Amino acid sequence: MLLVILECAGDEVSDSDKGILSAANRIGALLEMEWRAAVIPGANPPDPLPFAPYGVPEVIIAANISGVGDSPDLQGKLLARLAREQNASLILLPHTDAGAILAPLLAAELEAALFTEAIAFRCDDQGIQLQRRALGVQIARNRNWDRSRPLVLTMTTSSLSQVVLPSMKSSLPLLTTWQPDVSALTPMTTIIQRIPPDPQTVDVSEAEVIVSAGKGCDPHTFNQVKELARLLNISLGVTRPVYDLGWTGFERMIGQTGRAVAPRLYLALGISGSMHHLGGIKDSRRIVAVNRDSKAPIFANADEGFVADLKELLPRLLEQVRQATGGAA
Ligand SMILES: Cc1cc2nc3c(=O)[nH]c(=O)nc-3n(C[C@H](O)[C@H](O)[C@H](O)COP(=O)(O)OP(=O)(O)OC[C@H]3O[C@@H](n4cnc5c(N)ncnc54)[C@H](O)[C@@H]3O)c2cc1C
Repeated sequence: MLLVILECAGDEVSDSDKGILSAANRIGALLEMEWRAAVIPGANPPDPLPFAPYGVPEVIIAANISGVGDSPDLQGKLLARLAREQNASLILLPHTDAGAILAPLLAAELEAALFTEAIAFRCDDQGIQLQRRALGVQIARNRNWDRSRPLVLTMTTSSLSQVVLPSMKSSLPLLTTWQPDVSALTPMTTIIQRIPPDPQTVDVSEAEVIVSAGKGCDPHTFNQVKELARLLNISLGVTRPVYDLGWTGFERMIGQTGRAVAPRLYLALGISGSMHHLGGIKDSRRIVAVNRDSKAPIFANADEGFVADLKELLPRLLEQVRQATGGAA
């Protein structure tokens, strides 16, 4: 049995929940496995309607477990108990913060194999072949799961697609309640505070919106790009030549040797679009480029492109943003 773990955080179904359901549907069909979903203990009970297109037959929700939502180790113990009760041999999670914490806890509890941050899977006569990145974006490492022992598997959120395939049969899932006895469980860790990420300091590989400066920026325009990032409360990235100038730390460099990113929006300012840079931004949902050279390769790889000189564009853009924000981030 394949058990997929859903986060169900917030009112709307997250892209990662939809993506992991879509992946579970496909893996279940490939391995001819029965599958169902469970909500992380302590999360909100979901509205079943948005799950219908993915054809998940059943969603299991833990009830009467107050306090568990703030303790990842208790969540892991309960999910392991549920996986055992359900006779699950494959447990699938999105590689979100919660998924990354729960997966090793679950694997340890179940004495299962662990494979994290998978980017692709395919089936062959030996079982399922899983792929993850190694040494940057160019090299992939494959491993086979032969089903001889349970497997806990996480998939990167950038590799998850929310697309509903024609092979998926829409059905409203059955919501079932599970009432585990938690009286004997004592937490080893407790979350005392959740601090929202600061786009100025967050790891660029996790950033939602990035404005990136290339060699087309001089010291003055680079400061304007930094100001733009501050006012819009978005993350700053750079290309290698900008990093080489010593204007930022290595953690801001994006590309093949720098960080691979997957934001909702990537704004490329004064970036030519070399393959070394493009390799790190290809998972961006939307790329908008500004370059004064209409033949710059970045345009062929962007969703939207503007031929403009940053020296003229940035002062005007900043003025508008300052007016809209009142000068505060
Ligand atoms: C092994 C290897 C690994 C590498 N890894 C990375 C990596 O991880 N990340 C990375 O970024 N690079 C990497 N590089 C370098 C890469 O090949 C490119 O040299 C680099 O990405 C180019 O950066 P750029 O676009 O900022 O600069 P350029 O290629 O010099 O482009 C600058 C662009 O700015 C435009 N421009 C100039 N002035 C203005 C203006 N006033 N207004 C608007 N546009 C303007 C120009 O038309 C031009 O297109 C690597 C190279 C190698 C060999």
